[in-house]
Amino acid sequence: MLIVQKYGGTSVGTLERIDEVAKRVIKTKDAGNDVVVIVSAMSGVTNKLIEYAEYFDKNPSEREYDMLLSAGERVTSSLLAIALTAKGYPSVAFSGRQAGIKTDDFHTKSKIEVIDPVAIQNALKDGKIVVVAGFQGVNKNGDVTTLGRGGSDLSAVAIAGALKADLCEIYTDVDGVYTTDPRIEPKAKKLDKVSYDEMLELASLGAKVLLNRSVELAKKLNINLVTRSSFNEHEGTLITGENSMEGVIISGIALDRNQARVGIRDIEDKPGVAAKIFKKLSQKEINVDMIIQNVGKNGVANLSFTVPQNELDKAVSALNNLGENLNVESDSDIVKVSIVGIGMKSHSGIASTAFETLANNGINIQMISTSEIRISVIVDAKYGELAVRLFHDAYGLNA
Ligand code: ADP
Ligand code: ASP
Ligand code: MG
Repeated sequence: MLIVQKYGGTSVGTLERIDEVAKRVIKTKDAGNDVVVIVSAMSGVTNKLIEYAEYFDKNPSEREYDMLLSAGERVTSSLLAIALTAKGYPSVAFSGRQAGIKTDDFHTKSKIEVIDPVAIQNALKDGKIVVVAGFQGVNKNGDVTTLGRGGSDLSAVAIAGALKADLCEIYTDVDGVYTTDPRIEPKAKKLDKVSYDEMLELASLGAKVLLNRSVELAKKLNINLVTRSSFNEHEGTLITGENSMEGVIISGIALDRNQARVGIRDIEDKPGVAAKIFKKLSQKEINVDMIIQNVGKNGVANLSFTVPQNELDKAVSALNNLGENLNVESDSDIVKVSIVGIGMKSHSGIASTAFETLANNGINIQMISTSEIRISVIVDAKYGELAVRLFHDAYGLNA
């Protein structure tokens, strides 16, 4: 079999951990498989590099920022290849560019356009273990790009797709996908299986155990994706095309701390205003979510929406420079708590349980949005974890 394994930051967090990873890779190789390994930066390194850049400039040149951040993954990939070779297993480390990962031009959050896997395939043919630096690629100018935070998951799935791998294993610091973040609710249950759609929703709503874009790609390419721990031998979670167990209404609760609310007061209630505002934000590549506009009164209306916290400054300044004299306010002390389940489609009363649960505990809801398989609420940041635990209990998910 051809197996792609990805190891996240904690899994390669120390030299001892890299040694443990090397042993696991060797075990997979010894079982007769070809192995391609994707690695993250050692835990804390990416944040440290960002801190270094910001020491000089709060808004550093994005090209240089990508050059800098990509170094974290290159360190780990080289060290792992050295460790494997030292144990008698010839290995080769590749940067994103050397692995043939071609991206678009959007520095700091590039999309993979195509992968040319020839170099990886040639190294495999030579019997080598291939170790690829995650989170990075190269644009058409030959400049290094990065894929956005958590992007090594995407590197792994994309490489698995390009190589037509039999299996893509994502090794991390928990046993798999749980009904909610086990660090917030110790009673969370590990799921043996979860559907691509539910996982995509959970990941998009804050469950960072898998990057949402990696799930999206795995679904598109129908890749066998497994998340499991690099710290033990427990079976992980299989992410598949099948819908999860019959009869399960709610599959999980997610918390997204990276949200901020933007409010615009007293905007003129006439056609075209919202279009102008959101066009500007999309030109700036800002991801807008949860839009609420109230019914206009006396010719004016109020508009609120959420954006990722790290895009808030960019959003506010774009709106202030729109030339419309907008009355813009913002609040980054909020979180989004979401309830996800495909079974919701055919059940009623799910939303009212959520609202009652929060009301009974004195938690005010600032915004609400729903889809067929999800309910999200915005609440004060200090209530985020409590809301997760209350929902986890209210929907019967406690183990
Ligand atoms: P890695 O560095 O391996 O990529 P991450 O820190 O990105 O790991 O993701 C793993 C973390 O995701 C876990 O430590 C856990 O706290 C968090 N997490 C959030 N939601 C969930 C969930 N539903 N199931 C499992 N882990 C979750
Ligand atoms: N090192 C990068 C990050 O911390 C990418 C990754 O780990 O997936 O976001
Ligand atoms: Mg991650």
